Amino acid sequence: MKRAIFPGSFDPLTLGHYDIITRGVKVFDEIIIAIGINSDKKYMFSLEERLQFIIDTFKHEPRVKVTTYTGLTVDFCKKMDVDFILRGLRNPADFEFEKAIAQTNRKLSEIETVFLLTSSKTSFISSSIVRDVIRNDGDYTLLVPDTVRVKKAP
Ligand code: ADP
Repeated sequence: MKRAIFPGSFDPLTLGHYDIITRGVKVFDEIIIAIGINSDKKYMFSLEERLQFIIDTFKHEPRVKVTTYTGLTVDFCKKMDVDFILRGLRNPADFEFEKAIAQTNRKLSEIETVFLLTSSKTSFISSSIVRDVIRNDGDYTLLVPDTVRVKKAP
């Protein structure tokens, strides 16, 4: 069985991630979305919220799982007995960044990184843009799955 880890912060899950994951399940038998926990990073959404968004979004797709991890992605892959890392590519900046990480991961392990090119409809979307739209009261719902909603303060 071919399984891949799709690592990231998912703060929050966007239609860009959704596109890569739904296309990824056509390539792999199982995709494990792995939310990396970095204690130095400040997040807009709590870990519980980020997890719940993903659980709700993929509740009808049993081949998509979600979990959290700390430490190196390659160590997590070994622990989970997964041979592939899935990543999305949006632009040349992503390529340069991802190239260095994928080559480092290959140096540290046998794990292959597989890239899917972003769809033209979602290539401009990033979690940081979504957070900016939310902070400025814009209509972020156009950029995320229906399951991702900001809780309004009562
Ligand atoms: P990170 O915190 O590592 O930047 P993200 O949650 O932003 O993680 O993204 C995880 C993965 O999703 C990365 O491979 C990133 O390139 C990919 N990704 C994010 N947005 C898009 C998009 N609009 N189209 C394609 N891939 C995307």
